Amino acid sequence: ERKRRLSDIRFFRAQHRVALRNCGLINPEDITEYIACEGYFALADVLLNWTPVQVVDAIKRSGLRGRGGAGFPTGRKWELAAAAEGPVKYVVCNADEGDPGAFMDRSILEGDPHSVLEAMAIAGYAIGAREGYIYVRAEYPIAVDRLERAIAQARQYGLLGRRIFNTNFDFDIDLRLGAGAFVCGEETALLRSAAGERGEPRPRPPYPAQCGLWGKPTLLNNVETYANVPVIIREGPAWFASLGTENSRGTKVFSLAGKVLNTGLIEVPMGTTLRTVVFDIGGGIPEGRQFKAVQTGGPSGGCIPERYLDTPIDYESLKQLGSMMGSGGMIVLDETDCVVDIAKFYLQFSQDESCGQCTPCRVGTRRMLEILERITQGKGEMEDLNELEELSREVMDASLCGLGQTAPNPVLSTLKYFRDEYEAHIRDKRCPAGVCRALLDY
Ligand code: SF4
Repeated sequence: ERKRRLSDIRFFRAQHRVALRNCGLINPEDITEYIACEGYFALADVLLNWTPVQVVDAIKRSGLRGRGGAGFPTGRKWELAAAAEGPVKYVVCNADEGDPGAFMDRSILEGDPHSVLEAMAIAGYAIGAREGYIYVRAEYPIAVDRLERAIAQARQYGLLGRRIFNTNFDFDIDLRLGAGAFVCGEETALLRSAAGERGEPRPRPPYPAQCGLWGKPTLLNNVETYANVPVIIREGPAWFASLGTENSRGTKVFSLAGKVLNTGLIEVPMGTTLRTVVFDIGGGIPEGRQFKAVQTGGPSGGCIPERYLDTPIDYESLKQLGSMMGSGGMIVLDETDCVVDIAKFYLQFSQDESCGQCTPCRVGTRRMLEILERITQGKGEMEDLNELEELSREVMDASLCGLGQTAPNPVLSTLKYFRDEYEAHIRDKRCPAGVCRALLDY
């Protein structure tokens, strides 16, 4: 019992909950519980006391960056959407979370749906939009159900609809259900799909802030980004900016999974080290096995080895290591995991999810996958490693959207940090982790 309590303390001690502040504490199906936690206070405040310019300025000063992966400054995005010509504009929420092992947005939608609705209404006021859409995966039925209830309750309480808080501001929100295509998490594909078209990325510019949903200026942020907004308004941008690092302010939610004792949803200030996440919050590797790597950023990210465990978590540091912040998937690998097999898994995922409209992504990832299959079957050759690197560069340089541009990252990062394991597969016909079945028979 004492051991369990100590483990719980370690799990929570390094965490700081901002986006997840209400999850697990309030009944998400009862708007009064959200209001009791100062819910919709930020919306009331901005509608009654702030100008739209002040709202945009507060988001800019908070230093909030997009939590969906790329880390674009949120305030800048709001400023561009506010400056775009009206009269019709839209606010859209990207709830099409699709990374393997990621469930951050799902948990916020299921645990605190009003925080997203409130933020979208604040965003609508800031940029001059009257309509919002949440593009949510149909595979999240509880999230969809709770959003529908939350929208109905907010309308009933006059917090969505006409003349909110007796002002001239009208704003309402509707849902659009995604049908399971990972590429629809890419902003231009999402907006096409939400408009009823085929969900394929298109070249940018024009950016959604100029030409988005149905060709109108559109502000698009993901669930976690919006969940931070009401608390930034309530506590002030300086408070939010005091958390995290100089270039990555605030906190980040991760779904911690894989070979750690404590798996689950966590939220830590930016700048927390990977070691703290894996060994304090995560409780370390089970059964005394050796840590091997941590995969951040899902299929767009990379494997980070032990010698970089003291790296602070922020957008730039993870990128420098050949990985990405991504939306928050974090999978811990131990000595029983084969990095070649892991790279193959992620590449297979990207291959399956490629929309196929550009050849480097469609064919290049297939060729790379064939090489990885050969290597894991003991049929690889040393020059395959150079071929993998060359193909990776071509796929990254010539792909239209983020899916193709980042798909080679798991391969490149494992080649960079675990080349000896690739070589063992090729030269010795041996899988150091004992995972690749074909090699066990050699
Ligand atoms: Fe489609 Fe891949 Fe091209 Fe993106 S990079 S548009 S997913 S083919």
